Amino acid sequence: MRSPTARRRRAHNQRTTTLAPSRAKGRGSEETGHHAPAPAAAAAKRRTAGGGGGGADVFDWLPDDVVLSVLARVAATAVSPADVAAAALTCRRFRELAAHPAVLSSASAATVAVRAAAWSETAHRFLRRCAAAGSLHACYFLGMVKFYCLRSRATGAALLWHAAAGGHPPAMYALAVLQFNGSGGGKEDKDPRAGVALCVRAAWLGHPPALRELGHCLQDGYGVSRDAAAGRRLLLHAATREHLSWRKRHDQGICGGGYDDSSAGEGAASQFMVEWWEAQRSKAAPRGCHSGGEDDDDDLRLCSQSRCGRRETRRHEFRRCSVCGSANYCSRACQALDWKRAHRAHCAAARWLAAAGAP
Ligand SMILES: [Zn+2]
Ligand SMILES: [Zn+2]
Repeated sequence: MRSPTARRRRAHNQRTTTLAPSRAKGRGSEETGHHAPAPAAAAAKRRTAGGGGGGADVFDWLPDDVVLSVLARVAATAVSPADVAAAALTCRRFRELAAHPAVLSSASAATVAVRAAAWSETAHRFLRRCAAAGSLHACYFLGMVKFYCLRSRATGAALLWHAAAGGHPPAMYALAVLQFNGSGGGKEDKDPRAGVALCVRAAWLGHPPALRELGHCLQDGYGVSRDAAAGRRLLLHAATREHLSWRKRHDQGICGGGYDDSSAGEGAASQFMVEWWEAQRSKAAPRGCHSGGEDDDDDLRLCSQSRCGRRETRRHEFRRCSVCGSANYCSRACQALDWKRAHRAHCAAARWLAAAGAP
């Protein structure tokens, strides 16, 4: 019935499949059942029946461990979620093995960077699986989406803590912002010292936003003893690191290579939140809403730094620009960034208009 070659191939695969116990089990039950042929048996049948094997036979002979390592490499170097989906759709064997924890845990920042417009239950499930498999990028991304966009504060914070405990700098910085603002709780839940401690950890790992935030905290004496000179040095250090990181990404972009940088994951999460709130605002527009980035059903404001995407979890949570009072920021770093990029001009105009309109 079954050729000795097929038997040898089956024994070889059983011996080598240490990374895919669930699949090996599944295949066993398939083989004891009806004529639902397992990939190995199907391959053997193709070989004995067709004769002229070619490249497909070589692929079928590869043990699962090797295919898993190839797929894990794809997941680790993909530049978008579509890359992994495309690989999984190549053949049945890829589709089965692409869902293995060994592959999902390797998901890069770009692999889990779902766009807000593409958000669906399938995307949600994919991120949950990656996070459960141990991808820190997925824990961070899903944590941010759940905390800020889906209002699952406890689950989102737990995912961020998980990523931070695994050494993910953007997650540490995200938690620092939560501590500074007492996000998800009341005003009394603000804990500047805990925020600074998290920033120190992320800054130690060279995370530019954490370095910048820590620099401003030192300059203002917020959550830490005031030291203006040390704060200035950190701000300079943050600017240098940011420039180097930008150069690296720019060069990689020119070469056409992918990126697997946690800063890129942070940018993707922010982009998701910006696009998510933009879509929410468009949906609410026919019913009429405020023009300053406010939601229609409550007065929660977005961070005025246009690339941040964080939104208040309670009224008046974010700090305001003390000059014009019309801009709101989740952090000192966002305020300083926005001042340089845009608000300097708007704030002056708002002040001038207020003065001109005054009686
Ligand atoms: Zn912000
Ligand atoms: Zn202002």
